[in-house]
Amino acid sequence: MLHQIAPEVFQISLMPRNSINCYIIEGVLVDSGIRSSYTIVKKALQKIPVYQHILTHAHADHQGCSDQICAEFSIPLLCHPDEVFRTETGMVTTDYPNPQHWIARLQQKFWAGQGHTVERTIGENDKIGNFSIIETPGHSQGHISLFREQDGVLIIGDVATNMNLLTTATGLRLPPNIFTTDQQRNIESLQRLAKLNPAIICFGHGPIMKNTERQFEQFVDKCSTAF
Ligand SMILES: [Zn+2]
Ligand SMILES: [Zn+2]
Repeated sequence: MLHQIAPEVFQISLMPRNSINCYIIEGVLVDSGIRSSYTIVKKALQKIPVYQHILTHAHADHQGCSDQICAEFSIPLLCHPDEVFRTETGMVTTDYPNPQHWIARLQQKFWAGQGHTVERTIGENDKIGNFSIIETPGHSQGHISLFREQDGVLIIGDVATNMNLLTTATGLRLPPNIFTTDQQRNIESLQRLAKLNPAIICFGHGPIMKNTERQFEQFVDKCSTAF
């Protein structure tokens, strides 16, 4: 399921109700869903060619078919230096507060893809086309977001979700604590993103959100006072 969101920005919806998404931005694949997302991602890339692949972070629902896709299309894989270990080993739950939690074990066993060599690392202020990399640590240590200033498109990864991951009801939420390295630090990253005044927010989980009523900033304010 391929949807155009903005010029040269496409959402690949990998599961019903947009519960897992990846994106193509200006010829770059951002994230790749889970291992079984391979067929859908491959089909999308046959329609919209990409020259490289970036991870917002190396969790199982973002790197699931990265190894297969990079091999199939002969494209390089990029991530933040603090995500390299998990990206290259495929041991993707090692930064969870409890990597032995039963859900973490299931993710590792059924969702995670094999590790893949990182060609180049990326960090704050690096550019991917017209998008700037913004370091947004907290959900994972080396989590990054991507922001295009000219039209306010924000690829937010898992800094926030637009869905309750249990009920799939739409709405802004913090990522679950059990999958988040440091929630306080994640909220600080959210505060940074709110200052950018994003117009269109693209989530790892949940539908795209047009931030017309400044709902995002209100949500961030609420999280900031709750913590
Ligand atoms: Zn995650
Ligand atoms: Zn995720």
